[in-house]
Amino acid sequence: MFLSVGVRFEANVEALNMVETAGNYTKHRRVPYLVEEDGKLKTVYVPAISGESLAHAYQWSLVKEALGMNLPVCEDCAKGEFFKSMNKAHLKKKIDPIPDDSKKIEATIIKSCVIEDVGGFLYAEKPPVRRSSAFQVSYALPIKSMALFATAEPQLHARHAQMDAKGKKGNVSEQMIYYVETGTALYGFTFNLDLDAIGVSSLGAGPIVPEEEIRARREASLKALFRMLSSAQFGAKLSRFFPVGGITELTVVVTEHPFVVTSPIYDSYIERTKKRLEVIKEAFREEYFFDSTNEVPEEVLRKAIEYLKEKGYV
Ligand SMILES: [Zn+2]
Repeated sequence: MFLSVGVRFEANVEALNMVETAGNYTKHRRVPYLVEEDGKLKTVYVPAISGESLAHAYQWSLVKEALGMNLPVCEDCAKGEFFKSMNKAHLKKKIDPIPDDSKKIEATIIKSCVIEDVGGFLYAEKPPVRRSSAFQVSYALPIKSMALFATAEPQLHARHAQMDAKGKKGNVSEQMIYYVETGTALYGFTFNLDLDAIGVSSLGAGPIVPEEEIRARREASLKALFRMLSSAQFGAKLSRFFPVGGITELTVVVTEHPFVVTSPIYDSYIERTKKRLEVIKEAFREEYFFDSTNEVPEEVLRKAIEYLKEKGYV
């Protein structure tokens, strides 16, 4: 089974993805974007939130769900440090001595950590072992029809400290000013989850953990997505720049084989997704789950999880 989610969310005055600091200026991530204006194409630079940033939030959410369900999470991942068994030093925490067989290495990592099972890993030593992530996430980008209105603006902030230092004339205020570039846009992104890849070797060694645990791991993966979207705990600087807004639209599709919702950056994405699903249903005689809402996104996610439960998948 394959789950694909299209999310639209409004975020005003957010600092969810900062890329660099030059002096006292912190810059928001921006990407070139192709838009059509008066029948002509042009490139504009728009605020964006990287897939890496969203993936980190998802995996952190997965840590908590997995631990809550008594599923294994390795020491590094439990701290939110996603080294992913990248070298001998990190892999030795899972198995020592390290075997020469890549299938054994893969099985050890999958058994000992749900995050690396779902989020993939790369052991870059001999023999190198790589596992693709079972989930995929796009950048969050402003929706096409409103991209020209998306902005990134610097906001001035100041820090003060009353100085009593000798050598200074009286009580002078020590002031530091700094700028944080904030973005404002209606963003869209896509999240996919290949439920068939969870708990199963990507090197052809079949299931690595028992069927019952595979189902529990799938459930944890779905709950993590649910929680991440519902709590809006993604991106940076939430403590002072928690975005003003929220999810405006959510579309969920569950199919037997990989199928990705039409990107929510297009206004017609719900209709197009539905039409594509109908064609697939007719051509391959495959059932699917589809739901969309602009009211309560949690309701759509709940229904999708129920559908998978009915199918005996979680
Ligand atoms: Zn881990």
